Amino acid sequence: MPHDHTNTKTQTSAIGLGTEKLYYDDAYMREFEASVLTCEHISGSGTDADPSRYGIVLDRTAFFPEEGGQSPDRGSLTAAGTTLQVLDVQIRNGIITHVTDTPIVPGTQVHGCLDFQHRFSNMQQHSAEHLFSGLVWSRLGLTNVGFHLSDTEVTMDYSGSVSAEEAAELELEVNRIIWNNTESRQIFPTKEELNEYSYRSKMDIDGQVRLVIFPGSDICACCAPHVARTGEIGVFRILSVQSHRGGVRIHMLAGERAFHYLTRENAILTETARSLSTSSDQVPARLEKLRADLSETKHLLSEARLALLMKEAAAVPASQQQVCLFSEGLEEPVLRSAVNYLMDRHSGVCGIFNGNDDSGYRYVIGSHSDVLSMQKLLKDTLQARGGGRPPMIQGQVHAHEDEIRALFEFSV
Ligand SMILES: [Zn+2]
Repeated sequence: MPHDHTNTKTQTSAIGLGTEKLYYDDAYMREFEASVLTCEHISGSGTDADPSRYGIVLDRTAFFPEEGGQSPDRGSLTAAGTTLQVLDVQIRNGIITHVTDTPIVPGTQVHGCLDFQHRFSNMQQHSAEHLFSGLVWSRLGLTNVGFHLSDTEVTMDYSGSVSAEEAAELELEVNRIIWNNTESRQIFPTKEELNEYSYRSKMDIDGQVRLVIFPGSDICACCAPHVARTGEIGVFRILSVQSHRGGVRIHMLAGERAFHYLTRENAILTETARSLSTSSDQVPARLEKLRADLSETKHLLSEARLALLMKEAAAVPASQQQVCLFSEGLEEPVLRSAVNYLMDRHSGVCGIFNGNDDSGYRYVIGSHSDVLSMQKLLKDTLQARGGGRPPMIQGQVHAHEDEIRALFEFSV
């Protein structure tokens, strides 16, 4: 979703309501006084599944609504000693509306209080996005076609491909801008002044444009609160770069969220290294060695199982017509040659079932006489699946070993 739009300092509607956007003057405002202009029951709410909700419009607010892909501010409104949680902040019919579960009488004075930790985190993510998108535009000529800032993830979409190497290079550069601690500016230029600026914007804007300027790095039309100095972003981290609708989607984190993410990742790596009895930098080599060891062990196990199976096969008296043997962890070509061995020694139906009662069996069955009646029996009684043609068939069956053995005894 594009994240820039008309930015008037005071919004107006057909009925003449206006809310002063305090976050334009001061993105760091945590508390404010305001009076309630209107309070309306939100239609549709008030059912068992959806408790009553009220939309409160104030004459001024520091709450930034859900807008341009950014999640809304959280906080509370206190009126006459009662504190109500602000459950949501939406632009409804062009007006910033604070959603609560209790009505407040119009004219009441309220004290607004923001969850500033949440707000500041959004400022860190959004400002970092501007810096990165500015570089993607100036270096790679790609535009930012989507921005999503929720409480769980932050994504940026671009109009063309960005390689992992390019992303890493620009990521470092964004961090250097952060460490330079550049001051930002937000301005409302006149139409004439606007012509002087070369700025990024996802759409044509009719009304007053608000420009967010990081001098030397980026100028973008945007209505959201931003950090005053880039140093407040702290750190910027790209988590992934994925192909997305002909371009790329990049997952990112900045500031405290990036810090917590890196702390978690580090804990996982440290614990992995500890359980492998090695150091963090040796984890990849250690895992590669374990993978090779496992593969070798599987191979040896398979050979041992085959030797056991062949010993079992050799022990079946040649006078016995039907033979049914069980094994586990064998490859199909091995099963086929074992069945061939049995068919040379026994005139009836010879089968090997590879697997176990819990996850089922893969089978190979052969006979120089009649293998198809066994196939039919397996399908009819045990819902086995499979195919093949005489003298050998194969497939899968989910049944117990004794049920399978009974079929071979039954058909003697
Ligand atoms: Zn923006």
